[in-house]
Amino acid sequence: APAGGPVGSDFVRVKSPDVKYTEEHIEARYSYHTATVSRCRGTYTVTPRTTRFTFRTQRSVPKLGVMLVGWGGNNGTTVTAAVLANKLGLSWRTRTGVKTANYFGSLLQASTVCLGMGPDGEVNVPFRDLLPMVHPNDIVFDGWDISSLDLGRAMERAQVLDWALQEQLRPHMEQLKPRPSIYIPEFIAANQEQRADNVLMGSKAEQVEQIRKDIRDFKKKSGVDKVIVLWTANTERMCDIVPGVNDTAATLLATIQGGSEVSPSTLFAVASIQEGCAYINGSPQNTFVPGVVELAMQQGAFIGGDDFKSGQTKVKSVLVDFLVSAGLKPTSIVSYNHLGNNDGRNLSAPQQFRSKEISKSNVVDDMVRSNNVLYAPGEKPDHCVVIKYVPNVGDSKRAMDEYTSEIMMGGTNTIVMHNTCEDSLLASPIILDLVILTELCQRITFCTEEDPHFQTFHSVLSVLSYLCKAPLVPEGAPVINSFFRQRTCIENLMRACLGLPPQNHMQLEHEMQ
Ligand code: NAD
Repeated sequence: APAGGPVGSDFVRVKSPDVKYTEEHIEARYSYHTATVSRCRGTYTVTPRTTRFTFRTQRSVPKLGVMLVGWGGNNGTTVTAAVLANKLGLSWRTRTGVKTANYFGSLLQASTVCLGMGPDGEVNVPFRDLLPMVHPNDIVFDGWDISSLDLGRAMERAQVLDWALQEQLRPHMEQLKPRPSIYIPEFIAANQEQRADNVLMGSKAEQVEQIRKDIRDFKKKSGVDKVIVLWTANTERMCDIVPGVNDTAATLLATIQGGSEVSPSTLFAVASIQEGCAYINGSPQNTFVPGVVELAMQQGAFIGGDDFKSGQTKVKSVLVDFLVSAGLKPTSIVSYNHLGNNDGRNLSAPQQFRSKEISKSNVVDDMVRSNNVLYAPGEKPDHCVVIKYVPNVGDSKRAMDEYTSEIMMGGTNTIVMHNTCEDSLLASPIILDLVILTELCQRITFCTEEDPHFQTFHSVLSVLSYLCKAPLVPEGAPVINSFFRQRTCIENLMRACLGLPPQNHMQLEHEMQ
């Protein structure tokens, strides 16, 4: 399939009285069906509701710049190298044959959605062809790292990509140098200290100012139209939420001027929001203290996170979805990981492990809560997560899981899984999906019949949930972890922007005699 459509042309065009294509927008009228439920004397009364929306998607795709915090790490170097390799159309020999650059693992680039029936049966297209969106090959990268290694040497340090590919990429990668970053030693593991040779000096407020300057400098020098900032630096310890310190936008900004207890990731989030950039958190720590959320809402900037959902947790959100929705009752879930990259080294410190443990722990809650046949109110399966640092396995992370479920008539079903995989090769396509989806959401506005004033999505961009282990959602909104519900949300939202009804899988056309 061709990559990235030219402005103004569409891979998918909808022919419907509800859809209008103007020079600037795709405008679609859409009926959104929900239901409200009440209960009286043992009977549920369900009342269907229809809200009429108009979705407007801006058609021109900007030149996107992405600034990574932790650019010199395994994920940072791997995603930059992968985009470069795709852009240059590189291939390389390995002992099992010739490999070619691709975007496997990216929801938008490598998975498909069904448009309907064509003369030869079902027509499926890649997600990226549904609406005008940035192609990863066109993204310009920049970023910060507390380690000064250029990206060529940092890629070598990461030990992720095949050597023959690294040799082709090095001349390009070594031109890229991370900008000095904010380093507050107490937030990441002490074992990271020897990496920190590229750090900003000055007060917190001065460092935020410098990050803002860096964003403007990158924008100016690269000529990109828009910048999105994404944290793929080391996992920090959790931040204490303290009234008067970080509970509102005003207190947080005051604390940056003079106080303590602000993490580097929160400082980056504040700088990004103040520059009008979306900020995404790929690690588990609570960067988004209440003050950051309020600031993002005040400034109308998107924030999204937390923690890339790449391997073990992704499988968990599939498997528990399957078990619970098949009417089987998971009673215990035990997950072991060992990994030998720098992320694993950082996570070997108790406070940083704790951030990861919390992020990995709540992923089955919504599925369990949804089934009151299997679970009494408040009842949950036992759930235990262990992570160990084993240098020898490098980036090739091992994940072992045991799922025990109660089945019919007191029986037991035990599923054991062993997963071996290069961690950064799973995370890199997720980074691309996160920024491309965020950028698309920045071009979508909508209104309803009741409120004809066009608005954007809520600042807390919950549509990114599919890509995150611990999805951040607007206050009061339900957190959805279930893999299929999350994916369907993205698919149906994009269909709504094209005036197409939700995918229903009913196949009624094949039921008729
Ligand atoms: P890494 O240790 O290789 O890279 C992190 C980089 O961040 C390092 O180069 C380090 O020098 C830099 N860094 C640390 N503190 C910084 C700061 N304050 N400012 C700028 N740079 C800083 O780790 P990785 O494997 O690339 O993972 C990155 C993050 O992504 C980790 O927090 C990890 O938990 C998270 N994550 C990874 C995956 C995955 O599948 N790879 C999945 C979920 C989450």
